[in-house]
Amino acid sequence: MSVDLAGARVLVTGGAGFVGSWLCERLLDEGATVWAVDSFMTGSPDKVAHLVRRPGFTLVEADVSETIPDPGGVTHVMHLACPASPVHYLRLPLETLRVASNGTVNALELAERHGARLVLASTSEVYGDPLEHPQRESYWGNVNPIGPRSVYDEGKRFAEATTMAFHRERGVDVGIARIFNTYGPRMSVDDGRVVPTFLHQALQGKPLTVAGDGSQTRSLCWVEDTVDGLVRLACSNEVGPVNLGNDAETTMLELAETVVHLTGSRSSIEHVALPQDDPKVRRPDISHARRTLGWVPTMTAEEGLKRTVRWMEELLAG
Ligand code: NAD
Ligand code: UDP
Repeated sequence: MSVDLAGARVLVTGGAGFVGSWLCERLLDEGATVWAVDSFMTGSPDKVAHLVRRPGFTLVEADVSETIPDPGGVTHVMHLACPASPVHYLRLPLETLRVASNGTVNALELAERHGARLVLASTSEVYGDPLEHPQRESYWGNVNPIGPRSVYDEGKRFAEATTMAFHRERGVDVGIARIFNTYGPRMSVDDGRVVPTFLHQALQGKPLTVAGDGSQTRSLCWVEDTVDGLVRLACSNEVGPVNLGNDAETTMLELAETVVHLTGSRSSIEHVALPQDDPKVRRPDISHARRTLGWVPTMTAEEGLKRTVRWMEELLAG
């Protein structure tokens, strides 16, 4: 499928976050005008500092759970605003529920006003601790509705339900992406997610904190691959949900060993308590994205991790 965003006017909620910053950059490269709307709750203007002088880019500070400033003439809304790291959403449970609910309604109403297409950044967490493996979009999931992670998991499930209701009842043009673990430069070093945590520990010679016995799996996707999937979804008329992730699965113990090897670190491995309801396995079936969007992730884990290591080395060097 072709990507044509020249002349598009795209509002990106969460545009100063990790994925949002890469998405804004890609949209500008495609010739779109971009408004990044962000409260900086877990993101930062630093992540888009390299974009602020580019023509067509505007950074707007606002809490989308309250209201979304309307720049007019919007053709696409990319709704990414939401704490995404377990450390963040466990610290910000009510804010997470508010942005997944009120924030999503506000984003959908803005899209409706403009006849714009809305892409929702949902998550593999809607599958919870999955009993089906790999996860296909048809799987309804296994989520603990009252556990600590539920603010995120159920929040995103609510966001998906709201998106589908606006689509069915009001004819809003929507696409739902279920994003699996995505990594790369510009992740916050202290957000607790496994890739920045292991890299930071390895580069400082500290023990790598592997949760539990490390046999739980994740499937890590390079950020530009995820962003390419989001852009293709924005340019399609696919409603979804569509899994976006790399289907190469690894245990967290293997990941720790790979990081030690790639960084040449002398760090040891230290086993720490497994968080409550930590999913045991996670791997996307991406045949739907391949078929409908012509999307496949192309970055190898080794090359993606090496690039992230180089970025973090520069960051730590000041
Ligand atoms: P992030 O925390 O880096 O980015 C989220 C951004 O949203 C931040 O800049 C934050 O300040 C902003 N935000 C949060 N609440 C807001 C509010 N009320 N108003 C305005 N801005 C607000 O996280 P990320 O990894 O970039 O994730 C982006 C999106 O992708 C999230 O919706 C997340 O659920 C989804 N996602 C990410 C991953 C991943 O592995 N990175 C996986 C699945 C889904
Ligand atoms: N994890 C770990 N050590 C850490 C941080 C995370 O072993 O220092 C594990 C975590 O328990 C989970 C996996 O790595 O099994 C991925 O965690 P992350 O927070 O990155 O994302 P999640 O997939 O849980 O949302």
